[in-house]
Amino acid sequence: MHHFQERNGELWAEEVRVADLAREYGTPLYVYSTATLTRHFQAFDSAFSQLPHLTCFSLKSNSNLHVLKLLKELGAGADIVSGGELHRALMAGMDPKQIVFSGVGKQEFEMQAALAADILMFNVESAQELETLSRLAGEMNTTARISLRINPDVDPKTHPYISTGLKKNKFGIQMSHALELYARARDLPGIEPVGIDCHIGSQLTQVSPFLDALDRLMALRSQLVDMGLNIKYLDIGGGLGITYGEEEPPHPSELGQALSHALQNEDLTLILEPGRVIAGNAGILVSRVLACKSTDDKNFAVVDAAMNDLLRPSLYSAYHRIAEVRANRRPEQTVDVVGPICETGDFLAKDRILPGLQADDLIAVFSAGAYGFTMSSQYNSRPRAAEVLVDKDRARLIRHRETFADLLRLEENV
Ligand SMILES: *Cc1c(COP(=O)(O)O)cnc(C)c1O
Repeated sequence: MHHFQERNGELWAEEVRVADLAREYGTPLYVYSTATLTRHFQAFDSAFSQLPHLTCFSLKSNSNLHVLKLLKELGAGADIVSGGELHRALMAGMDPKQIVFSGVGKQEFEMQAALAADILMFNVESAQELETLSRLAGEMNTTARISLRINPDVDPKTHPYISTGLKKNKFGIQMSHALELYARARDLPGIEPVGIDCHIGSQLTQVSPFLDALDRLMALRSQLVDMGLNIKYLDIGGGLGITYGEEEPPHPSELGQALSHALQNEDLTLILEPGRVIAGNAGILVSRVLACKSTDDKNFAVVDAAMNDLLRPSLYSAYHRIAEVRANRRPEQTVDVVGPICETGDFLAKDRILPGLQADDLIAVFSAGAYGFTMSSQYNSRPRAAEVLVDKDRARLIRHRETFADLLRLEENV
């Protein structure tokens, strides 16, 4: 359920006409809905209300400061994967005690900044990281609370590029190495092991992989308790899927019920790191048709949004629903919706059946609120799109469209 709905042949974002936004702010344009972000966060967070828990929004899915501030006001913490994301979380006013730092390759300056901010914990992914963190914490006269990110070797049954919890993936620590590394963590100065972490993949459409992972983590936990470790946190990561097209992912309440049942008598605080399920369907990408053309084999609609604006179709062959912003009632055509970038891989949709498009038509690409703007680039020297946040009948520009000056800002003069 989201608040981008068609009424009388027009697409609305809450109580604002999307066509009006395109006119005012130009295209390509990201439009987010306050009501949808709010609803999704609350539906997710309340699904775990029976357990002590912390919902840490995954910044890499959408890290606009205004989105973060909204989520923070709803009670969200942050799951960060870089120093830049730490900076964003702190600038948005997020509580360091609700920040967890994930990521397979943390740099020293990033660990130092997170130690200085006194974040809740680091999700450590290698022995090297543990040693470095211990040294840095010692130098700063502080202690790093840590979880080890365990690779539970469960198949999340999702796209290979976004499955992370298989033995062959680069992420986490192999289960058979976990005890040894926890023992090392226990003995290292400046390190306090407080949790167990995993993140098995993204766009999961079943509950069972989460439960498989949980089983393995709980088995590890009892061994750690036997070793005298005080494990207070269990972080099950993010990854709950959304409906892009035909998928029928479980409602957060199903995951909540299953995890609540499994953890009801445990003295643990559950940490969750959702990204896509909060932000994905809370945003659309609005684009204008530049030209339409046909070959013997294909119809193409060339639009002003490209893979630099929304990479998912090119990177993962991801499906995003597309619709016209104003219904045109022309006969349907099978069309490739492509961008202006000089790459064959630059497309938003292939062989899509849409009412015949014409130059100047506006289209909306749905489910673009997560891994949309955050994955965008300036490839082909295209300034990044603007972002707008709608709240009922008001729209606020929350990131300006980049300018040519922005493209050159950091380059030395010639
Ligand atoms: C990407 C990521 C998430 C968020 O994943 P979603 O599929 O967007 O929920 C959470 N935790 C970690 C460690 C991640 O890398």
